[in-house]
Formats: sequence, structure tokens, C-alpha cells
Amino acid sequence: MKALVYLGPGNKALEDRPRPRLDAQTDAIVRITKTTICGTDLHILKGDVPSCTPGRILGHEGVGVVEELGSGVTSFARGDRVLISCISCCGKCVYCRRQMYSHCTSGGWVLGNTIDGTQAEFVRIPHADTSLYHIPEGLDDEALVMLSDILPTGFECGVLNGRVSPGSTVAIVGSGPIGLAALLTAQFYSPSKIIMVDRDPNRLELAKSFGATAIVNSANGKEVEVINAMTGGRGVDVAIEAVGTPSAFDTCQNIVGPGGTIANIGVHGSKVDLHLERLWNRNITLTTRLVDTASTPMLLETLQSGKLEPKRLVTHRFDLAHITDAYATFGDAANTRALKVIITAS
Ligand SMILES: [Zn+2]
Ligand SMILES: [Zn+2]
Repeated sequence: MKALVYLGPGNKALEDRPRPRLDAQTDAIVRITKTTICGTDLHILKGDVPSCTPGRILGHEGVGVVEELGSGVTSFARGDRVLISCISCCGKCVYCRRQMYSHCTSGGWVLGNTIDGTQAEFVRIPHADTSLYHIPEGLDDEALVMLSDILPTGFECGVLNGRVSPGSTVAIVGSGPIGLAALLTAQFYSPSKIIMVDRDPNRLELAKSFGATAIVNSANGKEVEVINAMTGGRGVDVAIEAVGTPSAFDTCQNIVGPGGTIANIGVHGSKVDLHLERLWNRNITLTTRLVDTASTPMLLETLQSGKLEPKRLVTHRFDLAHITDAYATFGDAANTRALKVIITAS
């Protein structure tokens, strides 16, 4: 089968690989129909994720069809359409029992990281019963791919951890796919303001059409002043960091109001300065989280009801044979205006 393989920092290639085989009785083999590329894959290619070693098939998002099942899998049958969660989990360990599936002692974020991933014709899914979801009739594959990772990530790490609530003021720093996913799902709670911050005017315009109440271009470095002015000097109740850089985190520290929350989503490759000399008396909360995908069943319901339209995040389409073009397009988003690229594998 064809698969996109990580060959070490800066290197990747579409290679021929043997089809994956069942390894445990709880595994499933899924034929991938659609997959996508994540910002995290670009971090891996930069060498930021040491757990992912050369030779690994990348990808942790996708939908497909069950091809083969271990004898221990009871909830799925051959031929079932399935959504693949970016988090695999056993459902039984100490962390799974706390719904912290991201830290499952025999799972977590393993796909396209410590085991072969979804940017291929087939993938082996461990703990299939608790790591796959049945796809309700009539749902669109492209919209569903957004539920593997970015929608639950934006919602759980940004909106839930940030405690977005009716009437609250929210700023989302970073208007990429994850920031936009947080923007879409923040609206479940009717905040009074959702301010999107980015340097890319195209992404900010998109954010407006996705429901942002205000946009702030941070290219001139004045975003803190502008946001503080917009909130009558109080700062925001929820500052969501959706970039993963020291400067984006710093912006969040400078705009969070008394009693507010900084909810970090970004993958950080280097240290940040925490300004406790300014924050110690401001009653703030700082949260971090790896997505648990505990909200996936709820997101599937909202997708089915038409309350969520994640397909709007899809800007480009490729087939698996052209996945290196898809990487080039996704990696040059400032010029290509790419958000999410869909890759059709079969
Ligand atoms: Zn991802
Ligand atoms: Zn577990």
C-alpha cells in the first residue's frame, strides 16, 4: 500500500509499505477513505516531536471502512463506516476511568506518533471498540474528518477548559484551523464577544464569517492595547492560546482579565515566561490539556443536527498519490490560504 512516511527532520516520502496486520485481538484494520494533515504533522517534520521516529507513517485523523477485526472487537463489523479518533484508548486504565483518554496507559496519542498512522491506504487501530466511532447515516466524510482531532481539540482544550459561558468575553489568539474550531464551538455557549487575533488578514476575514464578533490584526504588535480598549480596560474572561509560541502565550497573559482563564491549546516547542509578578493577585486560572476526545459523541450529534458545519474548514483536496503536494500547500498557508486539506486515500 502507499503511505506517507516520516524520514527524519525535514524529510518525508510517499512509499510502498506492507499492509498493516492485526497485532492484538482488540485491533481493527481500517481502509482509509479520507484523511488530512495536521499542524502537529508539521511539528513532527520540524523535529519537535522526539517520540515520533524516522520510518513512521504519519497521520492521526481520518474516516474509513472496517476491513478486518480482531476476535475481541465486539462493537464493529466488517464493512462498517468509522470515524477514527486521534486518541486511542483502552477504556479501562486509571486515566481512561477518569475520562482522560489522552493519557491512556496503553494508548493516548499514538497514531502517526509511536505507531503507524492514517496517511496511508490502511491503518491498524488498537483498542478498536473504544477508539472508533460508528458514522450515522447521511453524514459527510469531509466534515467528519474534522471530528478526528481539531473540533474536539478546539472545544475541549479551548472552550471547556477556558470555561466559556453565556455573556463571557473570549479572545482566541491564532486563527488557524484549531483557533477556528474553538471559534465554532465557543458559540455553543453564547459568549458576548469572541475576538480573533492573527497576523493573516485572510484568516481574520474567514474568522468573521465563522462568527467572530471582532478581529484584531497582531502584525503591528498592538493587539494587547486594542483588546484592552475593546473590553473597557477589563481584559477578557477567556484567553485561548491557539498558536504554540511564546509571543501568543504572552498576548494571553496580557489580555486576561481578573478572574479569567488562559486556556492553552498550542503545541509548545520552547519555554515561555510566566509573568506571575503581574498575575499573582488577579485570580486567574491557567489550563493545559491534550485532547481527550471525550466530547466526540456530542460533536457527532451536533454535526448530525446541522448545528455545526466543520466542512467550511476544508479549502483544498488531493488524492493520496499527491500527498506531498498537499503538504506543500498546507505548509505554505500564508500564500495558499489553506486551512484543512482533504486527502482521498481510496
Ligand atoms: Zn492533529
Ligand atoms: Zn486506558
